[in-house]
Amino acid sequence: MNLLGKLKRAIQPKRKRSHSGHIKGKAVGLDKTAIPKHALTVVKTLHKAGFEAYLVGGCVRDLLLGKTPKDFDVSTDAKPEQIKKLFKTCYLVGRRFRIAHVRFGRSVFEVSTFRANNDAPDNKRERSEHGLVLNDNIYGSVEEDAFRRDFTINAFYYDPHKDNLLDFTGGLQDIKHKTLRMIGDPTERYREDPVRMLRAIRFAAKLGCEIDAQSETPIAKMKSLLEHIAPARLFLEVEKLLHCGHSFEVIEQLQAYGIFEMIFPTVHAHYATEEGAGARELLGYLLKNTDKRIQAGKSTTPAFFLAGLLWFPRQSLLAQFENHPRHIAEDKAAEKAFAGLLKTVSIPKRFTGRAKEIWTLQMPLENRRGKTPYKILNNPRFRAAYDFLLLRAQVDPSLQGLADWWTRFQESSDSKRKSMCDNLRKRQNRKSFQKTGGAGEES
Ligand code: ATP
Ligand code: MG
Repeated sequence: MNLLGKLKRAIQPKRKRSHSGHIKGKAVGLDKTAIPKHALTVVKTLHKAGFEAYLVGGCVRDLLLGKTPKDFDVSTDAKPEQIKKLFKTCYLVGRRFRIAHVRFGRSVFEVSTFRANNDAPDNKRERSEHGLVLNDNIYGSVEEDAFRRDFTINAFYYDPHKDNLLDFTGGLQDIKHKTLRMIGDPTERYREDPVRMLRAIRFAAKLGCEIDAQSETPIAKMKSLLEHIAPARLFLEVEKLLHCGHSFEVIEQLQAYGIFEMIFPTVHAHYATEEGAGARELLGYLLKNTDKRIQAGKSTTPAFFLAGLLWFPRQSLLAQFENHPRHIAEDKAAEKAFAGLLKTVSIPKRFTGRAKEIWTLQMPLENRRGKTPYKILNNPRFRAAYDFLLLRAQVDPSLQGLADWWTRFQESSDSKRKSMCDNLRKRQNRKSFQKTGGAGEES
């Protein structure tokens, strides 16, 4: 600890801290070699300046479970302005509650100041008419910070330099039994923040945990509170569940709880129509493909999910605009399909725009007129549109031949591509193409 740190320690009032006991990380299977060096640097820098600092939340949970953490968050008693002074590249973000983002190259570490909540008198906590907590920014001790977190297994604090693990809420016991348990009174905690219900379903699927009965029971009667969540926040949660690697199971659970229909009312309504079965099947394949990609460390985009979620609703809306030129009908159908969703989940324009591009390329991918195959191949959205065609072919086997044609076309030499296009043109001239939509063709 440097001189300034020592001085600060000496003048800081001694805080009452009921300790969780010092558990050695090593003794409970926490492999600290999996912690990136910059995460260690963030903690060490705060320590050297005389502050308390720990790795916290999801990363400690994942290390205890032997999983690779997605990101490493740090919790400290340093205030945001104090954190900022300690790091060269540090930005304070968040209006309601300031959090520091410390950057090392491409890695960003979220450093937040201990907060208190649960025991704070209610008059300090601004609430909405439905009981949602609106203001959540009272600083506190590490222990208070632990009790305002959602689940016991998300409330570990780990000092990697001393190999000390703090468990104030009984998380280790729950890790052992793979139980997801809400800290405090679940009904009250869901009322404070209904998004915790979505988080419970996501973590249970992602971590292979059982939701403890007391934490699970209130969900059925409290799910309607999710209607009061701002669409922008709901989008962030939807994005997290898509990226959790177990989205198929999460969506299945959301449907079983009747939450899916609250988040995606128009999609749910479409499921009840004649084309509903195809739409449900497409979503199933889409989620399974997404999970495989995530588990293989590949990227996914909400735009692709959006394209799949709304493909059939968009197709049936197209019929409403059949008197318009095709490109206008496509625009109108897309806008109407998005409008239904945007009431509950606000999706950034860049994603709706990309989903639209994926849809718009489907028709040219099917028709392959003239020089179109060459042009599409150079389109920056080709890969997504082709992947989308493969997805559609999983539901509609008559598209498989077309999908295979595109697979071969990409892999072929220039001369082979030319002969594929020549063959295609001959077939199109014979008009057989129009009937089959190209499916089942050979090169
Ligand atoms: P993931 O690996 O999916 O990111 P995570 O546990 O890190 O999981 P985050 O959403 O990144 O989840 O949140 C970080 C931590 O912040 C959580 O572990 C939890 O302790 C706390 N937290 C997040 N959201 C809430 C919430 N709505 N209520 C209470 N605590 C929360
Ligand atoms: Mg996280």
